[in-house]
Amino acid sequence: MSLTAKLVKYPHPSLRYPARPITTIDRGLRLLAGRMLEIMYENRGLGLAGPQVAAPIHIIVMNFEGDHTQKEQECVAINPVIVDRSGSQDGNEGCLSFPELFQDVRRAKKVVVRAYDLEGKQFEMECTDLPSRLWQHEIDHLHGQLFIDKMSPVGKLGSREMLKEFEREFRGSQKRGTTPSDAELLKQLASWTMPDPGPIL
Ligand SMILES: [Zn+2]
Repeated sequence: MSLTAKLVKYPHPSLRYPARPITTIDRGLRLLAGRMLEIMYENRGLGLAGPQVAAPIHIIVMNFEGDHTQKEQECVAINPVIVDRSGSQDGNEGCLSFPELFQDVRRAKKVVVRAYDLEGKQFEMECTDLPSRLWQHEIDHLHGQLFIDKMSPVGKLGSREMLKEFEREFRGSQKRGTTPSDAELLKQLASWTMPDPGPIL
């Protein structure tokens, strides 16, 4: 993969492609994480998952305040798993791969998450409310699950037109040759490798 990782939008096949756990934490991965944070901030998001930049691996980046000046709110998580969840909350949710689409989604109120950081150190975090929602949304991405799957029937109905528009746009760009075909994109995902950071100078 090149360093020109960019945000992919629905219905790019990467969003449904099964991502794999990460086995090596190296400079290439740190480079990718840095680029993902940039993309997240450029698009004013709170979080971004590997599949959203067509990297089929278990990495997510987040900033619990969505504010790049608050680095202490930043979190890079490798191979995150939810080890405990409790309660429930209803709230509005969006996704950078679905620009301008917002709907209510029911999530667990509280989660306990376990993951590795970029130094390979395991950590555990307990969150409620918005940060908890964010973790659940981003971890879903690693398993090909999207927030449109979890909307209420009313929310799904209310999203139908926008989803059709995303489809039209994506298929149109494939027809024009701006975006490769699904078969080609799937081939790229299957042969994906970590970015090469180049020599240390
Ligand atoms: Zn998302």
